[in-house]
Amino acid sequence: MSELNHHNDDALVFLDELNPEHLPNIDLKKPSWRIMIIDDDPDVHSATMFALGNLEIQNRSLSFLHAYSASEARDILSSESDIAVILLDVVMEEEDAGLNLVNYVRKNLGLNDVRIILRTGQPGYAPEIDAIRDYDINDYKTKSELTRTKLYTTVTSAIRSYEQICSIIASQRGLELIVNASTELMSLKGLQNFSTGVLHQISKLLGKNIEGFVCSPLDDAQNAESSATLLAIATSNSFSNLNGLMLDKLENNHIQQQLEKSVTSRQSIFGDSDSVLRFENVAQKDIYVFLQTGVSEMDKRLIDVFCSNISVGLNNVMLTSRLHKYAYFDPLTGLANRLKLLQTLSEALQSGNEKGIVLSLVDIDHFAETNDALGHQFGDMLLCAVAKRLLSHFGTSCHLARVGGDTFALLGSESLVSPENISKVFHLPFDVDNQDVQLSATIGLVRLENYAGGSADALKDTNIALKRAKAHQRASYSYFTVDMGVEIRERVRMMHALRAAFENERLFVVYQPQIDMRTKSAVGAEALLRWKTEDGTFVPPDQFIPIAEYSGLIVDIGEWVMRSACFELKQLHDLGYIELKMAVNVSQAQFSHPLFLQSLERALSESRAPANCVELEITESMAMTDPELLIKTLLHIKQLGVQVSIDDFGTGFSSLSHLQKLNVDKLKIDRAFVNEINETSDEGSIAKMIVQLSKSLNIKVIAEGVETERQAQTLMSFGCHLAQGYLYARPLTKDDLRSWLAKSVN
Ligand code: C2E
Ligand code: CA
Ligand code: CA
Repeated sequence: MSELNHHNDDALVFLDELNPEHLPNIDLKKPSWRIMIIDDDPDVHSATMFALGNLEIQNRSLSFLHAYSASEARDILSSESDIAVILLDVVMEEEDAGLNLVNYVRKNLGLNDVRIILRTGQPGYAPEIDAIRDYDINDYKTKSELTRTKLYTTVTSAIRSYEQICSIIASQRGLELIVNASTELMSLKGLQNFSTGVLHQISKLLGKNIEGFVCSPLDDAQNAESSATLLAIATSNSFSNLNGLMLDKLENNHIQQQLEKSVTSRQSIFGDSDSVLRFENVAQKDIYVFLQTGVSEMDKRLIDVFCSNISVGLNNVMLTSRLHKYAYFDPLTGLANRLKLLQTLSEALQSGNEKGIVLSLVDIDHFAETNDALGHQFGDMLLCAVAKRLLSHFGTSCHLARVGGDTFALLGSESLVSPENISKVFHLPFDVDNQDVQLSATIGLVRLENYAGGSADALKDTNIALKRAKAHQRASYSYFTVDMGVEIRERVRMMHALRAAFENERLFVVYQPQIDMRTKSAVGAEALLRWKTEDGTFVPPDQFIPIAEYSGLIVDIGEWVMRSACFELKQLHDLGYIELKMAVNVSQAQFSHPLFLQSLERALSESRAPANCVELEITESMAMTDPELLIKTLLHIKQLGVQVSIDDFGTGFSSLSHLQKLNVDKLKIDRAFVNEINETSDEGSIAKMIVQLSKSLNIKVIAEGVETERQAQTLMSFGCHLAQGYLYARPLTKDDLRSWLAKSVN
């Protein structure tokens, strides 16, 4: 190695060229470029340092690391970082020690940025050109070539290239991180999560764990006046005690000063050991991020890009959280809406913690009437008052939502969400617009434990329970049971099937003769609806008529039955049965429909059926609801000449005086009372009473469901002569009715 030393001495000692005046003005704040000298000859080390010692590249001085063997170099390299250039002796312990080390640096340590300059004492030791390329060796010089000037230029260009590589790698890494950070941040909802994400992403971006916090003005005021008005919205570990606090609580003057500087100068502040990033006008406010770290020039650029990305992102976040708010919250009361409730509900159902959890719907009684009577504004205030009361009773311990106009939902433990507790909320009157308003509510509940359905089903089933409670009586409650669900779902299924059947003309009308028992001659017929499904089975009217009524389908279907009956009546009259009457059943929903009279008139005029032979059968319970409307409608009907009878008489609650006012033409004794007349008893006291009643009111009476001769005889003995029943005829199709009439008359 001695000859190398000699060369080195020659090549590297240029003391005379050192000129103190040329000593660079080094900015001490900036880290120096780290140069590693690996050479088994100590003289080479000192000579190199001597040659490069005062060199300054881009205002940064050089500092040196020394290794005297390849193995020592390995140790140093695996613990040190940011080494810009390695000046490496090719031949050390072994002939190829240098190249092996290069391999180790690039492959094993994965250091691709560090520039490597190989030095060899003799040209003969030159590595293969392939090695130079494969190992990304910056330069290869014989030591004799490396005069001070040459060493200077070689190292300078190596450092430049190192810097470039670093910035490319950094910006690649940075861009990648920024892109990842942005997408990750975008998925976070709300400012708080977003801010926590920002801290996390900055740490990732700068490649080290950074402590800090994010703060913004408390109000939506765009600019903070002073750092004291800032509120910490997200913090890293060491600042966690600051979370949610105003920064005037911060017991650190220095941090406060830094923030103050940023607030007043409206700029980001970069100090030696900490930084304040300022995000301007993001989502209507400025946001400040305090970081407990200095930031290098290069990192500043990264952070710049990051910040502008974040600003856009944060604006989006705020936009999405506003959208989120619109999508999930009820603007009137500020409570969660139906969608939000469904979300919470499905979380509850999926969590497996639904034991003892109850979902309840609370429906305010008579809200629609109140709303109509006192105006929508009053109605809104009422709802807000209810929301507020519910919130103060259940707010912190239950999920509360407004899921419909006057329907609230509560989700929580059984001990809290109980009919008793909910009813309590309504005990005291509500103060609305300085008026005391006494409200009551109907409550439907579902126990989520062992609940099989999803969240939407649970809500529907609670609704079913609510409807059930409403149907029974106001201001009551009902827990959902499985049967209710089965029943209701079956009803819904049937409703769809019925609509399809009506559209596809699978409904038809049959006619059951009504006779005078004394002469056995036909006096009329009752039109009865039939539904034959596609597979040929009949659905009993007792099953589908209530569904048609419930769904409103009865209005169209009923009109069609009426028209069919009128046309059939006309044809029968044309056939010569001119005394024949036609009874048609009319439901409440039809009857109270505003176009009912019109459709009746049209059926009469278009069929040219005689009005006085048409008889509408209304039920006794109908006669009891809304008597005003009934009396008015009946008056119109009678003016047309159409007759009215009360069906199923005796099952309702009509009072005698009421009956008189209705001015009906006929009472129809319910089958149940006819049934009382049997082999063991021929009492039939109710039937008898009804007959007497009709006599005293001077109206006609007919018995339905007459199945036996005994019943017929008994009824006649009471003075009832008209009847309808299997004893005489079942309901018949049009054609069968005609044959039956042909046979029965005479
Ligand atoms: P409803 O008006 O009381 O009709 C009389 C029911 O008693 C009919 O049942 C009829 O077939 C049955 N019936 C007649 N005689 C006897 C008998 O001797 N023994 C027995 N066990 N039953 C007898 P259906 O046709 O099943 O109708 C049931 C109910 O469906 C009707 O009761 C009526 O409330 C309703 N309905 C039928 N068609 C219509 C319609 O077109 N419109 C409306 N709104 N309701 C209808
Ligand atoms: Ca009837
Ligand atoms: Ca009846």
